[in-house]
Amino acid sequence: EGKNLIKDFEVNSNSLKKSKMRAINDVSFKMYKSRGLAVVGESGSGKSTTAKMIAKMYPPTGGHIEHYGRDIAEITKHRDLMQFRQGVQMVWQDPFGSLNPTHTIFHHIARPLLIHKKVSPSNKKELEEKVYSLLEQVGLIPPKATAAKFPHQLSGGQRQRVNLARNIAVGAEVVLADEPTSMLDVSIRAGVLNLMEEMKFEREMALLYITHDIATARYIAEDLAVMYVGHMVEWGDTEEIIHDPQHPYTQLLVSAVPDPSKSIHTKLKGNKGEIPLWTPESLGCPFAGRCTHAMDKCREKLPEISQLSDNHFVRCYLFEN
Ligand code: SF4
Ligand code: MG
Repeated sequence: EGKNLIKDFEVNSNSLKKSKMRAINDVSFKMYKSRGLAVVGESGSGKSTTAKMIAKMYPPTGGHIEHYGRDIAEITKHRDLMQFRQGVQMVWQDPFGSLNPTHTIFHHIARPLLIHKKVSPSNKKELEEKVYSLLEQVGLIPPKATAAKFPHQLSGGQRQRVNLARNIAVGAEVVLADEPTSMLDVSIRAGVLNLMEEMKFEREMALLYITHDIATARYIAEDLAVMYVGHMVEWGDTEEIIHDPQHPYTQLLVSAVPDPSKSIHTKLKGNKGEIPLWTPESLGCPFAGRCTHAMDKCREKLPEISQLSDNHFVRCYLFEN
């Protein structure tokens, strides 16, 4: 659960003075077991920054993240950190980046099992069986032959499956997938997404799925959050939002995907407008520069959150009463 998160970064705007950029502004969300949260937005909207804060890769400037009710900033002891990192795993865009080209697939799966003491190092047979069973579970068959290969001998989709097998190996409870299929061929994307969907239910994982493609979000995410320039502008039930988008930016995103059930590779087109650079001093609604409904107050103060139904929220003046 993220509460009122803020993240500022220092940027070198010119040689004389340092300035700050606000990458995340007042973002809150919840994740649940066996449930997916898709975070959708253009590049630079703060999606990856959000995931990295959840993974404790860097601390928020404001607000906090709770894991089973505990502020993750307070997890500092080595043992607790190890346990946290085991439970909260990331899957990156580039399935090759996280694999070591000089090691076999067997080694890649065996290593996390040994590090996190899932198997005793002296029991070679048990280790082998465990590795093969994991490879089988992620659809890499025959497992024995796959295990003997090196990463470059696998396709991008197979490599991403190896990464997912490693997440299962350590018993990850939270998987943060940052555009996991964007570098894969369109034809194999659905297979990787289906596997993540299976992991979500069978392993009771909480899944964060980051994408710039709203259509793939409904594959594996019950909840959807739309981000724009570091703000969550609309969030809630995925189907409700896709069928009946309320925020002007979400409407633009959804209208860019004519048939979300078929198209999984449609890019946002049309009205690009001016995307603002947000700073701690910026005021108003981040979408004001592109919004056809913009009013004076939209440029003066960030709108409050309005609740539209049980699980549907929006941050826009059109919905304030
Ligand atoms: Fe448009 Fe104003 Fe709503 Fe922002 S708050 S989306 S500018 S109407
Ligand atoms: Mg990104």
